[in-house]
Amino acid sequence: MTSAHASLDRFAAGKLAGLDRRNLRRNLQETRPLGGAIVERKGRRLVNACSNDYLGLTQHPAVIEAACAASHAYGAGSGASRLVTGGHPLLFELERRLAAFKGTEDCVIFGSGYLANLAITPALSGKGDLVLVDTLAHACLHAGARLSGARFETFAHNDMADLGGKLDALRQAHRRTLILTDGVFSMDGDLAPLPELLTLADRHDAWALVDDAHGVGVIGEGRGTAHAFSPPAHPPLQMGTLSKALGSYGGYLCASRSVCELMRTRARPLVFTTALPPASIAAALAALDLIETDAVLLERPMQLARRFCRSLNLADPKSPIVPILIGSETAAMEASAELEMAGFLVTAIRPPTVPRGTSRLRITFNAAQEEADIDRLAEALKTILQTAEAAE
Ligand SMILES: *Cc1c(COP(=O)(O)O)cnc(C)c1O
Repeated sequence: MTSAHASLDRFAAGKLAGLDRRNLRRNLQETRPLGGAIVERKGRRLVNACSNDYLGLTQHPAVIEAACAASHAYGAGSGASRLVTGGHPLLFELERRLAAFKGTEDCVIFGSGYLANLAITPALSGKGDLVLVDTLAHACLHAGARLSGARFETFAHNDMADLGGKLDALRQAHRRTLILTDGVFSMDGDLAPLPELLTLADRHDAWALVDDAHGVGVIGEGRGTAHAFSPPAHPPLQMGTLSKALGSYGGYLCASRSVCELMRTRARPLVFTTALPPASIAAALAALDLIETDAVLLERPMQLARRFCRSLNLADPKSPIVPILIGSETAAMEASAELEMAGFLVTAIRPPTVPRGTSRLRITFNAAQEEADIDRLAEALKTILQTAEAAE
């Protein structure tokens, strides 16, 4: 081993030891899906209560069949960027379908939701511009804002007075301004106040991007956060992922024709990356068929979330994401381990995913879970929280 190899390894080992000491080390565990909401870990069957597969569509026969058929017909991979070899007809079809579903002129598909957010903000802003991001918005919105080279400021979570103050103070001095927010916040489950946010944005000629990763297929009759309001809100930039309720993989932006065309021409994480495999595209199309027609399926995650919150005397949930705030990293990891003993997979969420001191259990509900399992989960959690309280 050369001395450079050795110093590299010392660096990595030192970093890991520091994370271990602060209980911030992440341990990847082999976990095998067994169908429905059941997974196997260390030889034990667990009910998955932390996935983003809200409608259970990763396991749906029609979605799996569509993925298999597309692989047989067109191959396992796509071979190149769309800009090099042209776009697969299925990809254009999915873009048309998503645009129609969201009620926008056009849609453009990216490799993932994360890539979409690394693409969109830098394609729309740069030096001399301003990007305002909700502090609790997803890491990839923050990453896209930094990558853009624009001035990057955060505003307090869902605080429209703070956002308004920042716009008053900073908007004039910048050429273009973007406001970035989650629609449904991924670790808190609450919704952005879109009507107020869009009014503020319009007043200041700022462009609002709503990340609907946890909204599409889940709220607003499946159409996402914008449709959870009455009348529906109309954010000019609605991005999302094919990887959560749609049960597949990929990201998208629904917007006007010119904005989407600009992305196809200029967005580097689209131009310089390989297009999605046919299987992922076909799976998302099949999932969209189900979301557009199966109202009973769409209702289920929220029904289970409400049932759970009622039995724990929690406030009515706004989405199928229910955070149970614990506080310290250690306590959150202990609570998670106890739930695993009781037969549930609920990973502890720790910094930097959430702010320091707000480590939590993030429980998510999905259509494949059984009522009886949700009731058992609520009982197990009650016991764990009471024991923790008594120990304090
Ligand atoms: C999961 C998530 C993403 C990333 O989407 P992927 O398709 O998984 O890369 C982006 N934004 C939010 C809010 C998310 O929760």
